[in-house]
Amino acid sequence: MNINCDIIGDLLPLYAEDMVSQASKDLVEDHLAACESCTDKLTHMRDIVPVTVEEKLEIQNEAKPLKKFRFVLLAAILGFPVWLPLTLAAFVIVLALYICVWAVVISLWCVPISVGAAALGALVLGGAVLLNGGVGLTLFYCGCGLVCAGLAVIFFLLVKAFTVCVIKGTARIFRKMRRKKYA
Ligand SMILES: [Zn+2]
Repeated sequence: MNINCDIIGDLLPLYAEDMVSQASKDLVEDHLAACESCTDKLTHMRDIVPVTVEEKLEIQNEAKPLKKFRFVLLAAILGFPVWLPLTLAAFVIVLALYICVWAVVISLWCVPISVGAAALGALVLGGAVLLNGGVGLTLFYCGCGLVCAGLAVIFFLLVKAFTVCVIKGTARIFRKMRRKKYA
């Protein structure tokens, strides 16, 4: 069992400081129960390096964050083929949604513009009819024109408020991202 003794001999210093996994611990203990030379080695090792409870705790506390950091790093590297396309996809989706929002804003602006144009057209038409002597039709066209003008103003104010909201929201998101970057 020479090979086993060599392997156990490598593990012994870590085992003495209680820095091995449960599986290694079981392996070492199984071997120590049957091997006198390794038991002697361990006793000798413990004589040279007496590990107090405080020292043990200190070693464990030092090892823990390092282990955690290693785990995070490993997860980041192993997960690379997964999280890179996911991040890209998320970025593209967010960008597409943002473009959609602006498409909605632009199309909304068409409403007050076209209603305003209709109002202008109705008023011009009313004026033209008046020149030809049709007072009744003139009143009708002017009425339509004024209603359209009122609607155009209301739509204009609504769309303007919405646009301001979108711009402010964008600015807020960018500010948050910048703060996160420098935080
Ligand atoms: Zn042995």
